[in-house]
Amino acid sequence: MAQTTPNHTQTVSGWAAHDSSGKITPFTFKRRENGVDDVSIEVLYCGMCHTDLHHVRNDWGITMYPVVPGHEITGLITKVGSNVTRFKIGDRVGVGCLAASCLDCEFCKDSLENYCDQIQFTYNGIFWDGSITYGGYSKMLVADQRYVVHVPKNLPMDAAAPLLCAGVTVYCPMKDNGMLQSPGKKLGVVGLGGLGHVAVKFGKAFGLHVTVISTSPSKEHEAKERLGADDFIISTDIKQMQAGKRTLDFIIDTVSAKHSLGPLLELLKVNGTLVIVGAPDKPMDLPSFPLIFGKRAVKGSMTGGMRETQEMMDVCGEHNITCDIEVVNPDQINGALDRLARNDVRYRFVIDIAGKSSNL
Ligand SMILES: [Zn+2]
Ligand SMILES: [Zn+2]
Repeated sequence: MAQTTPNHTQTVSGWAAHDSSGKITPFTFKRRENGVDDVSIEVLYCGMCHTDLHHVRNDWGITMYPVVPGHEITGLITKVGSNVTRFKIGDRVGVGCLAASCLDCEFCKDSLENYCDQIQFTYNGIFWDGSITYGGYSKMLVADQRYVVHVPKNLPMDAAAPLLCAGVTVYCPMKDNGMLQSPGKKLGVVGLGGLGHVAVKFGKAFGLHVTVISTSPSKEHEAKERLGADDFIISTDIKQMQAGKRTLDFIIDTVSAKHSLGPLLELLKVNGTLVIVGAPDKPMDLPSFPLIFGKRAVKGSMTGGMRETQEMMDVCGEHNITCDIEVVNPDQINGALDRLARNDVRYRFVIDIAGKSSNL
């Protein structure tokens, strides 16, 4: 059993899973004192990411129980350490996936902390002091200021919470592949869930032509009429897939179930790129012909560094982009996790941790 938090002094109420049944129950634990580089945050809201589900059920075999999930956290600063310059008490802030990194490698130096090979996550990680990190399903969080961002004033704190993971996860590969300054380019979004619906919103905000690719015909109306997608392709419809060949510049694939990349690659123009941000736990089919014949590329991308996370937040503030959410109370977490496992959510559950109204 890994080290817990023996030297920690602050008692915090939260919610944890204690074994692979994944059942969440109230859990009281300790957090570290607020250090010189730390801020303390009263957690207001925490989004429920698919990663939370994988961790509480130990799907990836890496869970250290008890696990307090949650890495889509918004709240208010209640304390700042003496070295903290970017935040003051009362600031509206967010914390995403990252809790610590080496601070010294080429990636940390370039604020690409997410690619540091000593990265530690907001929960189920090991912090610099050797303690296991506990996430946002809790009333209070202590975070190093480096891994905290400001939430723009015009964004509601509940609907902004999932931007900290879902938002930045789709924003960074879009930016990385030149889609933010290329109005008119054709973006494909595979899967219309927590990640996909934000990708559609970014696409429209940046003037892209957005095609949603989904197995669910029932999502067409929603995708086009409400989210503003320009086109919709049912991935199981061979005729539609045929008609969509070589039409897209870039595809962001958010699907976390096993699927073949071949038919999706055929939708890309020559030299197009498909970026995987969903995380199927089994290897995916990657036939060579669509790669070779179209000089296409498949890449992955994992969340974002801190500079880009703030940039994404600011962009969301400018364009009024938030996630579409269903707010739940802490005593509804188990039911929400069950629904999440069935993809029965539009599009993100957000836990009202502080029990406050949603118009903060
Ligand atoms: Zn996440
Ligand atoms: Zn590093």
